[in-house]
Amino acid sequence: MEEPLVQISAEPAPAAPVEGRRFYIETFGCQMNVHDSEKVAGVLMARGYRPVAEPEDADLIFYNTCSIREKAAQKVFSRLGQFRKAGAGKSSNKIFAVLGCVAQQEGEEIFERAPHVSLVCGSASYPKLPELLEQLENGSRRVMGLSLRTEDCFETELTRRDNRFRAYLTIIEGCDKRCSFCVVPATRGPERSRPSGKILEECRRLVDEGFTEIQLLGQTVNSYRDPSPARLSFAELLVRVGEIRGLRRVRFTTSHPRDFTPDIVQALDACPTLCDHVHLPVQSGSNAVLRRMARGYTREEYLEKIDCIRAAKRAISISTDIIVGFCGETVDDFEQTLALLDRVGYDQVFSFKYSPRPKTAAGGWVDSVPEEEKGRRLVSLQERQRQIQILRNQACVGKEYEVLVEAYQPKLGQAVGRTTSNRIINFPGRPEWVGTYMNVRVTSAGPNSLVGERADNAEADAPPASRLRVAAQG
Ligand code: SF4
Repeated sequence: MEEPLVQISAEPAPAAPVEGRRFYIETFGCQMNVHDSEKVAGVLMARGYRPVAEPEDADLIFYNTCSIREKAAQKVFSRLGQFRKAGAGKSSNKIFAVLGCVAQQEGEEIFERAPHVSLVCGSASYPKLPELLEQLENGSRRVMGLSLRTEDCFETELTRRDNRFRAYLTIIEGCDKRCSFCVVPATRGPERSRPSGKILEECRRLVDEGFTEIQLLGQTVNSYRDPSPARLSFAELLVRVGEIRGLRRVRFTTSHPRDFTPDIVQALDACPTLCDHVHLPVQSGSNAVLRRMARGYTREEYLEKIDCIRAAKRAISISTDIIVGFCGETVDDFEQTLALLDRVGYDQVFSFKYSPRPKTAAGGWVDSVPEEEKGRRLVSLQERQRQIQILRNQACVGKEYEVLVEAYQPKLGQAVGRTTSNRIINFPGRPEWVGTYMNVRVTSAGPNSLVGERADNAEADAPPASRLRVAAQG
């Protein structure tokens, strides 16, 4: 498809000085989108813009969109309308920008339906953002970055990370898998991996800056193919990252079952800093549905991967994504998905009702399962999984886990910790514990989280900065 990388309208608007200008970003979707917004924020701040918490206070308003949600485009246009009505669009100096999947999907149409928007940019064009911003600053009224023809995977040292102890890092962008229900290949472009040397260099820099957890990101993170002469496999890269001195935890998401090879489990066994958690989306337990989804594996092949993970030397928690009510899914197909839940014993399931997406193969098929039936199947699946999670979480009661304290809830006086297996434990705590690691004993369990108490008091009274340093030195 021939697409302009940058389109600039001939109609000029007055340019405003960049220095002192303020921006606001609203983000929807997955960690990839959250991290994209961090990178966009970094690029903006390097150009002299400063972040604000409310759109009303901003000169430049970014809306980073996700098309996984149903009726994504309508929701974007309605939100853009809200911004305008709330007064955010009244000033002629305000600039509106739409980023992400809906920007890529709707393209130029956005200018027609929301004439106050000046920039439309898909994620594959983010490397061109400085140029696009320059065009806006020079007064262009309509700027577009929508090319998918890119060799680049956008990662920048300018990234402004919101979290001060966990850093997201993209290692592969785009997707070549072309599942029949998914718009990602059309919105994020083909798979492109970053050289392993650059990834490792950046991880070391992040550790030097005080980050103790790194989450490696990619739509299909384990499809990573090192383009550098080092030719590291994904498993080798995991180990090399995991061995970086001072790094306490390494996570990776999202893995595709087709590329989930035994050497990844061997890497988990070999390297304790790699977290005890794998997210492995199955989508359906029925071979007929998996075939129509073009997932590239059978139920049996998927279960072989699960058995391989279960055979690891340490217990690895497993989570997944499931779509119910995909085109042609019969009651029997759905029963097979329920049976798969019992067989695997997932620790967490993210489940959705199928809804057709534009620019996908299945978007043109008959959406055969009625909405009401999709709803019934979703409730039934979630209830089955709830029972499984209660049992799995109850098995944690009485045990001790190391948690990274991620937040503090002042009203409850509770710290919120995350185990390496990605479980949340709430326990009595203090605000200054955020960012530190501590051992917690689980005292009770619900379906979605655990409750506990400190199991070690050794670090409790140390100043937070020094504890952070202790953690960083590992
Ligand atoms: S693997 Fe399939 S579901 Fe995942 S991003 Fe690629 S096309 Fe979409």
